[in-house]
Amino acid sequence: MAAADIHHRTPEFRALYTRVLAQLKDFVGTKNDVIILSSSGTGAMEASVSNLTSPGDRVLVLTAGKFGERWSALAKAFGCEVDEVKVPYGQTFDLEEVKKELKLETRAVFMQANETSTGARHDVKGVAELLKAANSEALLIVDGITGLGTSVLDMDAWGIDVLIGGSQKAVMIPPGLSYLAVSQKAWERMEATYNPRYYFDLRKERKNAKNGESAYTPAVALIAALGAALDWIAAQADGDLAAGRAKLVDNAETIAAMTRAAVTAMGFKLFAVTPGGAATAVYAPEGTDSGIMVKELKSRFGAIITNGQGEMKGQIFRIAHLGFFDYLDTMALLAAMEQVVVKSLPQLGVQFGTGLVAAQKVYAEHTK
Ligand SMILES: *Cc1c(COP(=O)(O)O)cnc(C)c1O
Repeated sequence: MAAADIHHRTPEFRALYTRVLAQLKDFVGTKNDVIILSSSGTGAMEASVSNLTSPGDRVLVLTAGKFGERWSALAKAFGCEVDEVKVPYGQTFDLEEVKKELKLETRAVFMQANETSTGARHDVKGVAELLKAANSEALLIVDGITGLGTSVLDMDAWGIDVLIGGSQKAVMIPPGLSYLAVSQKAWERMEATYNPRYYFDLRKERKNAKNGESAYTPAVALIAALGAALDWIAAQADGDLAAGRAKLVDNAETIAAMTRAAVTAMGFKLFAVTPGGAATAVYAPEGTDSGIMVKELKSRFGAIITNGQGEMKGQIFRIAHLGFFDYLDTMALLAAMEQVVVKSLPQLGVQFGTGLVAAQKVYAEHTK
């Protein structure tokens, strides 16, 4: 990143940008154009709403947590008529419910691949199939900010119209970039929509990207970092980025499964009914504050997990599996958790090794 002191209207930058955009396509796993924006993930969410809807459009939001609520708030901010399939935190959607709420005039469906606030995995493929079966004109717009690089998401085969990612998640670089892959159907929709947009004008970005440039001054250092991160992912599979992404996903799914097995063996309950590979959310034992686990892990071991967001604070703690977290990190964290549980949550009656043995078995099974 420090070496990325490149002016953005030079052949040097154009070469970098063109290369990173092409790599991102392989990372997302799509033939569609991918656009990079200088913003956190929410900027790309906003761009999807502002570029693909018009005031008064009927849209359907599938919401089951803080990030689902963000879709509703964004769609309302841009004047959409918002229908919702809303289920309690920790749950996921019944496809029958989604079908019932899908109207003839629904112009877009917004959802998360992975609801990071609860750890739930949502059935993107199921929703995509449902839209196809219903012959719906609705665009399927998916916040894959923690889904990308932790779950299998086949944009082109399933028929996702917009798939969004963020730099600080599975691509392991600092916050500040978002990216989104956009289908042909979505590009066509943009010709007719008229919500206000200026900085996040996707058509303008696409036009500039064809010449290796961004419309405005890009986050050059982050783009260089993204290129390096994607090179690293490709290097995990002899330079094949698609295969490297598959390995990254497999790693996340494996350590998520290890974590679920370990915490369950220790007597904890999982928060999400359909837990995903990005993060595991775990209930604190009844009558205790989940902050104990967060605080003790940090102060005793320098290990960082997070508390619940909003009203889930104090009830759950969340363990991330994104990006470079691997087997060794996971075993170390689970061992530290056992130390905290034995000392600070004696009511669980956990013996040392209980969680670790469960995790070891899952790892052995997954890597047989
Ligand atoms: C992190 C995240 C976001 C984006 O949040 P920003 O703070 O804008 O980067 C959106 N959706 C999900 C599911 C996320 O995990």
